[in-house]
Amino acid sequence: MNRVPLIQSPTPLHRLDRLSSELGLDLWIKRDDLTGFAFGGNKGRKLEYLIGDVLASKAEVVVTCGSAQSNFIRQLGAACARFDIECAAAVMDLPYEDSQPAGHVSSSSGNVLLDRILGVRLVEMPDGTWEELYAAAESLALSYEAMGRSVYRIPIGGSSPLGAYGFLMAAEELKAQADPFNHVVFASSSGSTHCGLRHGFFGTSTEILGIACDPEPEIADDFAELASGLEALAGLASHLEPEDFVLDFRFVGPGYGVASEEGDAAIVRLARAEGIFLDPIYSGKAFAGLLRLAEEGRVSGRVLFWHTGGLPSLFV
Ligand SMILES: *Cc1c(COP(=O)(O)O)cnc(C)c1O
Repeated sequence: MNRVPLIQSPTPLHRLDRLSSELGLDLWIKRDDLTGFAFGGNKGRKLEYLIGDVLASKAEVVVTCGSAQSNFIRQLGAACARFDIECAAAVMDLPYEDSQPAGHVSSSSGNVLLDRILGVRLVEMPDGTWEELYAAAESLALSYEAMGRSVYRIPIGGSSPLGAYGFLMAAEELKAQADPFNHVVFASSSGSTHCGLRHGFFGTSTEILGIACDPEPEIADDFAELASGLEALAGLASHLEPEDFVLDFRFVGPGYGVASEEGDAAIVRLARAEGIFLDPIYSGKAFAGLLRLAEEGRVSGRVLFWHTGGLPSLFV
């Protein structure tokens, strides 16, 4: 695998003392908000392998898609800037599956501001379905190819098998850093974080528990398909089915990309107890999930919250 170092690793791991005693847990946090790369976040790990492959392919342009507030596009834009590769993305403010959630996002602040500074070409589409967004990305890629430029396509959130490989390696990083945890809780969406961690802890006593930030239960099928790609890429003997992915869908709130009341309350709770910030679209909802799972007794003992970053969208 061609790896280009982008992040400072291992990322810090530490105990949350006040919340541990408040919740009756031995609660730890893995700080992927502190990767030291382009405002942090889980996408840096995927990009070390994705950019390695982009460079090997000698592509001139990278094309992807996402919501306008995508943390992936921001980190991809930074990686592309470093290697003088053009970065273009089809974006919608709030893409959806069946019906649009009520909510509003600013399309000039947060990640969009950072994308502009980085020189990312954002092709803004009217809001529509995920399928429409993927089709817009494909037409964007074809338009570059029609101009004779070579294009590398990256799926939403960097969730290709190579992206998942970044999180397979992250699992090894954690194992080398600490004694085993009973549960690892994190925000799950496009799936490569979940696939990499699930495979990395396959056959161990550590439960990998994703808090879904997307309301569609079918994402477990997509995750299993992505996991097969990772199995082939990394030559893994383990195999995952959709039911191997533990996902809790209760904390999505109004919809993908829209803040929830419980998530916002969790942001305030972690900030006031430990001085650590979360974001409203992913990590805040995931932490709300962890708080509730602790209250329900569904998680106990040594629990790890994997902070996946996302901080620029606090300023949206
Ligand atoms: C992308 C993202 C996630 C979800 O990771 P996936 O690998 O897409 O499932 C979680 N948190 C933050 C802050 C993210 O940007």
